[in-house]
Amino acid sequence: MTDPRAEFESDLYRTAIGQLDQVATRLNLDPDIHERLRFPRRALVVSIPVRMDNGKTEVFIGYRVHHNTALGPTKGGLRYAPDVNLGEVTAPAMLMSWKCALMGLPYGGAKGGVRCVPRDLSRTELEHLTRRYTAEIMLVIGPDLDIPAPDLGTDETTMAWMMDTYSMTQGRTVPGVVTGKPLIIGGSAGRREATGRGIVYALYQAARFLGQELRGRTVVVQGFGNVGGVAARLLWREGAIIAGVADFKGGVWNPNGIDVGQLERHVAEAGSVVGFPGADAVSNVDILERPCDILLPAAIGSQIRGDNAERIKANVVAEGANGPTTPEADVILRERGVTVIPDVLANAGGVVVSYFEWVQGLQYYFWRESEITSRLQEVMTRAFNRVWALAQKEGTDLRTAALMEGIRRVSEGYKIRGLYP
Ligand code: GLU
Repeated sequence: MTDPRAEFESDLYRTAIGQLDQVATRLNLDPDIHERLRFPRRALVVSIPVRMDNGKTEVFIGYRVHHNTALGPTKGGLRYAPDVNLGEVTAPAMLMSWKCALMGLPYGGAKGGVRCVPRDLSRTELEHLTRRYTAEIMLVIGPDLDIPAPDLGTDETTMAWMMDTYSMTQGRTVPGVVTGKPLIIGGSAGRREATGRGIVYALYQAARFLGQELRGRTVVVQGFGNVGGVAARLLWREGAIIAGVADFKGGVWNPNGIDVGQLERHVAEAGSVVGFPGADAVSNVDILERPCDILLPAAIGSQIRGDNAERIKANVVAEGANGPTTPEADVILRERGVTVIPDVLANAGGVVVSYFEWVQGLQYYFWRESEITSRLQEVMTRAFNRVWALAQKEGTDLRTAALMEGIRRVSEGYKIRGLYP
């Protein structure tokens, strides 16, 4: 028999399986459950014909993958990116399972994606693409089935189109089908800031355990969107020195600190951090190697790799993006004593507030931003402390500890539910 893993062959899937296998050994995981967790419960592949602005029809390929449903309906983002394929969506769906379980959310993991270059599409084309994709995956989404949210290349407008398309076919408004929606149609206060804010809470705990303060620490941020932009602003407000910031066009560097308020105004006008006065130009790859205390990769995956990990100067790396560190780089950073706060923990604030949004939507009762923020802080702090304590107890790094906690909870759910039929 051929190896069923071949179906999902991709770099990310191989990495995710490698992590699962390593943790399974440490946890002494039941081999049957281990085998089950390697595969998604279901994966839907759809073709999406889109009428382009030039009148021609182009067909795109999209996916929605549910990794497992042991702990509840599935949850996870939708990404629009050129490298999307079955394996590259299945791996982050699996990571969403560990992330949700680690954070104590009643969800299994999912992910969706459409292979495209979103920057090359007009707003109308993006809307057509999103609506037809939603219609095609209608079979597998729903407020108690699978709840998409934004990820790379998608945002709250994408979620509004998805919610509207789903609602139109049901003949009623269904706010709980997606999270990360605009506030006016049932989004949650604080959802947009949630991932960045969660990173700051995680960093705050890390600094405490390392006997440091965030104030006065030098920070480099790669990515200036929803995640990196918000984290940079909040860290700057905490008194950290934001020495470097980069986005997809390039980066800016000033070791004396960048005024994030002024940088935001520059980005609003220029569309990028590039050209910000009072800072030197640097590439968005070189910026990772600049001297700093805290490095925040908050853009895309595989940025810290075997070929640059030796030159990373930070002693704390907080993974704002999903999978910014390759397994080779992870080993190098660990050997060099760098504290890596892994994606499943560092960027989990997004899905935590998605959960709050979903609960609010199901109850038609909305909370104040201060309630969201304090509950987020509580969930992040508790999860961080648990992971830190487990890492100490097991003598391991934070990624291994976080995955151990997430995978253990999912496997417990499987065990207690038993195998159907
Ligand atoms: N895409 C985000 C993540 O990777 C958020 C998912 C969600 O809110 O469901 O965690």
